[in-house]
Amino acid sequence: MAVNTEVYQEIIAELQSKNVTLVAVSKTKPAEDIKALYDLRQRDFGENYVQELADKAEQLPKDIRWHFIGHLQSNKVKYIAPFVHLIHGVDSLKLLEEINKQGLKNNRIIDCLLQIYIAKEETKFGLDEEELANVLTHRLTNARICGLMGMASFTENMNTVRSEFNYLKTLFDKHAGLITHNSQPATLSMGMSSDYKIAIEEGSNMVRIGSLLFGTRNP
Ligand SMILES: *Cc1c(COP(=O)(O)O)cnc(C)c1O
Repeated sequence: MAVNTEVYQEIIAELQSKNVTLVAVSKTKPAEDIKALYDLRQRDFGENYVQELADKAEQLPKDIRWHFIGHLQSNKVKYIAPFVHLIHGVDSLKLLEEINKQGLKNNRIIDCLLQIYIAKEETKFGLDEEELANVLTHRLTNARICGLMGMASFTENMNTVRSEFNYLKTLFDKHAGLITHNSQPATLSMGMSSDYKIAIEEGSNMVRIGSLLFGTRNP
């Protein structure tokens, strides 16, 4: 399945005009597909599996910014800590503390997004508002919380999706003062192939798009 470079050009033009960062989600796709978008100057890529990410990072150009967007187990942080650009799915203080520890070991600050539970689905991960407020009170030296991330319900009902994104934006604004900026605007990572336009309307500044660019994935 070839990379859809035409769709890529359309999407990147649309996102750049709105100051939204595109994370091209390349999970399960071969390195050649990543290279095809890299050659069109795409630099942010997202992966869900630690081993796959580590393998691809080794094979591909060093100026790629790798985003870990999957569910991360504490015992696997060490494999991506030396190079990962942004970890999107931080959903516990325990995980944040492990990232901090690995950041210290690697003598770098690792940027993180806290994942917020916004969907009405048991299968999704994330913090609720109370847990978010609690995690934000912890100041760690080598794991920097620079924004929030969320996934809307898997549904055809776009009103549901919109209201979930709207809720996440409300939390983001409410807690913006505690999110570390480092002169950059704080990051709100929401929106995928099926709902990124709605996410942007609701205030997203980073979208994670896979199947629109790389084709559908085999299960
Ligand atoms: C796979 C994945 C995406 C991309 O999904 P598409 O529907 O293919 O765009 C985005 N975010 C997360 C967390 C994912 O796991």
